[in-house]
Amino acid sequence: MKSVVLLGPPGAGKGTQATGIAEKYHILHISTGDIFRANVKEGTPLGIKAKEYMDKGLLVPDELVCDLVEDRVTKDDCKNGYLLDGFPRTVFQAEHFDAFLKKNGQSLSCVVDIEVDEKILLPRMIGRRVCRSCGKPYHVDTMPPKKEGVCDVCGGEVYQRADDCEETVLNRFKVYKDQTSPLIEYYKKSGVLGEINGAQDVDKVFNDICALLGE
Ligand code: ADP
Ligand code: AMP
Repeated sequence: MKSVVLLGPPGAGKGTQATGIAEKYHILHISTGDIFRANVKEGTPLGIKAKEYMDKGLLVPDELVCDLVEDRVTKDDCKNGYLLDGFPRTVFQAEHFDAFLKKNGQSLSCVVDIEVDEKILLPRMIGRRVCRSCGKPYHVDTMPPKKEGVCDVCGGEVYQRADDCEETVLNRFKVYKDQTSPLIEYYKKSGVLGEINGAQDVDKVFNDICALLGE
């Protein structure tokens, strides 16, 4: 059973890498951002609450996140393992999740920290487009879909996320620095952290992650 966390600032390439990694290791890709966006779209009580924070580039409060993820990884389709993309994002979430794993006699296999300089991240984020149905990320200049506005994989609509405008992106970088980057030290101390240079080509980043996770 492989339990992997993808860590890194917004735009580091977590979503881009997640599908291939999940396929290769036969584990489930769980993106908390995707879960919240689906709830926003469906207008659920969770979605209505989460939207207030997401629109501003702020983190959704910890109490709305921890149980959601812990319930999700307990489902049958996670028996072989899971890849967490966008969780944990605060030390509270990491500690809560560690306590949950410990209670179940488990621990994380690896935390993959994808590092990219902010100067490179901003144009990535501003040009990002995503599929409304399957969440696959694209980029208007560097990785456009074959047919404009249409997802190569599922045919869904490719759109720009409301929180990918410059003002909100800059806010999210600050939130990452203040609230999420302390997790690098946190996981370094527990000996599960592996660092990857996310400024390289997508294929090179993928190979480096696989080298870290092993066969
Ligand atoms: P995250 O999930 O970490 O927020 P994404 O995977 O959505 O980041 O990637 C953000 C943007 O950067 C997308 O437009 C994606 O196409 C692009 N991107 C991802 N990885 C790379 C890379 N290695 N080189 C160049 N652009 C990339
Ligand atoms: P992402 O798709 O990972 O960029 O996440 C989009 C937004 O969802 C974030 O800016 C947060 O508002 C919210 N979000 C996603 N994951 C978390 C989390 N683990 N904790 C708090 N908020 C989250």
